[in-house]
Amino acid sequence: MKEIILCKYGEIVLKGLNRGGFENELMKNMRRRLKPLGKFDLRSAQSTLYITPLGDGIDMDEVFERASKVFGITKLCRAIGAEKDIDSIAGVIFERFGDVLESAKSFKVMTRRSDKSFYLTSPEVSAELGGKILERYPRLRVDLDNPEVTVVCEIRGEGAFIHDTAVDGAGGIPVGTSGKALLLLSGGIDSPVAGCMMAKRGVELSAIHFEAPPYTSERALMKVERLAEKMSEYCGRICFYTVPFTKIQEEIRNNCPEEYFTLIMRRLMMEIAQQIAEKNGLQALITGESLGQVASQTMAAMVTTDAVCRMPVFRPCIGLDKKEIIDISYKLGTFDISIEPYEDCCTVFTPRHPRTKPKLEDVERAQSYYDFGELIAEAVENTRSKMIGGY
Ligand code: ATP
Ligand code: MG
Repeated sequence: MKEIILCKYGEIVLKGLNRGGFENELMKNMRRRLKPLGKFDLRSAQSTLYITPLGDGIDMDEVFERASKVFGITKLCRAIGAEKDIDSIAGVIFERFGDVLESAKSFKVMTRRSDKSFYLTSPEVSAELGGKILERYPRLRVDLDNPEVTVVCEIRGEGAFIHDTAVDGAGGIPVGTSGKALLLLSGGIDSPVAGCMMAKRGVELSAIHFEAPPYTSERALMKVERLAEKMSEYCGRICFYTVPFTKIQEEIRNNCPEEYFTLIMRRLMMEIAQQIAEKNGLQALITGESLGQVASQTMAAMVTTDAVCRMPVFRPCIGLDKKEIIDISYKLGTFDISIEPYEDCCTVFTPRHPRTKPKLEDVERAQSYYDFGELIAEAVENTRSKMIGGY
């Protein structure tokens, strides 16, 4: 019997007239993610995306794994198709659930019938199938409240599908339906989480990383690229920009008051990031900042960085505790990479006593001791880019 995967749409179903666009984007994303695994028929009906493998030898575990990371889907399950008659359905149930029914004590059959022309109602289908199961496994008993095994039978237009309870999908809305933004991606825990949170709300991501060789190593950069690669399992392909930031950091150190190093550096990062964004049609910036986490992430500090921004800056981790951010990064699979101990350019020249309540005019004055205009233009000019993630 052929196995297929059913993916239930999430919020897309609420999209009214725009729904078609959302569905197209979802299909496109799913097609891209599954392409390396073989050929598939992807079809959408009744708020469900059907993934049918074409040909043998397709690794359905991997298909399921990839589909569970596509934003826009709330639930998914592996199902087996059957002819729309009770005997064929029962046959599939025995084949698929035989082992578990053999050793279980209780079960229930749950039927959903979207094909209203089918000759039995949902409760009738459940009763018939339940009867057949009891005939074969007489020691079993029906338990509607707390069954050990739940068999779900869906009677749909195109056939009957049998599966067990669905598992949670990635949720959110399809990447590509909410515009494009540039994520400031460090090697830390927070920024990959921030990027994925925005991708979950439909944003197509590019990423920008500031490196400061020789203070930061080639291997530190490779770590960040691996983070982007990991993120792409959820976010899709990421255009990755690397900015040479050494000269700027050295001039900050040589010319500006120490307590403002980090703030000035962050303002210059924002300036460069938005120039890259403007050049490449990206509408907003994203950072991994969380309110009060460190000196440069107080509200007053953010006021001084936002003062140089001409586009929206999204900080989806702003209200999360570190623990909550870590939990998300575990789920995404970025945590283990993030905690690899490599240096970040932020930590190269850290002030001993950073200002936690900086005043904008003081930061502006501190920054004005050196004219960074030319170095900013040079950094933008020398920024390299590459695509990360094959899908
Ligand atoms: P993260 O865990 O994301 O590194 P953090 O808590 O360590 O965050 P900071 O190091 O102060 O905080 O950085 C704040 C934000 O600035 C990061 O979340 C990221 O968006 C951005 N950022 C910091 N360093 C870099 C870098 N080298 N390249 C690009 N963006 C950076
Ligand atoms: Mg960091």
